[in-house]
Amino acid sequence: MKHELPVLPYAADALNAVISPKTIEFHYGKHHQAYVNNLNNLIPGSAFENASLETIIREADGGIFNNGAQVWNHTFYFMTFSATPQAEPTGPLADAIVKKYGSFADFKAAFAKSATTLFGSGWAWLVLRPDNTLDIVQEPNAGNPMRQGLKPLLTCDVWEHAYYLDYQNRRPDYIEAFWKIVDWKIVSERFLKQ
Ligand code: MN
Repeated sequence: MKHELPVLPYAADALNAVISPKTIEFHYGKHHQAYVNNLNNLIPGSAFENASLETIIREADGGIFNNGAQVWNHTFYFMTFSATPQAEPTGPLADAIVKKYGSFADFKAAFAKSATTLFGSGWAWLVLRPDNTLDIVQEPNAGNPMRQGLKPLLTCDVWEHAYYLDYQNRRPDYIEAFWKIVDWKIVSERFLKQ
């Protein structure tokens, strides 16, 4: 099975207030594409030749896990954004956030702290636990919470390649801006699809 780079549902300059076309060109056009290419080069003849990315994330190790998870993680990340996002959660997801974190502002502060303090490269995630409560988890490198049986709802890529062209070493500024393009309609759809 050949994996493909997904087409983004927005133009390269659509997120310009937060993520420049140059970052889209490199992060999506080169890094994301490279993970797709690496995975396609690694799987022929392996147990994962015809496996879904979700199976690879749950069961693979080494290069197949790293590249397969990075393909999935980047697609999930880029597909969260919109040039005209719903700025806040509503309905059951909003209720779950308030129940766990007290308020949407307190949730954003907790998520930002997780993303800021993640040492080195990795991903901060909002997840749904098997008991239907929310949680925020850090995953290093290509890590994905599905490997621990958690359902991803939202992620922020804090590898330097995600923000260095636009924010250099100012990761907190990137994370603060990140909220401007997160489409909570998309996050809510993930939450409700259980
Ligand atoms: Mn990345």
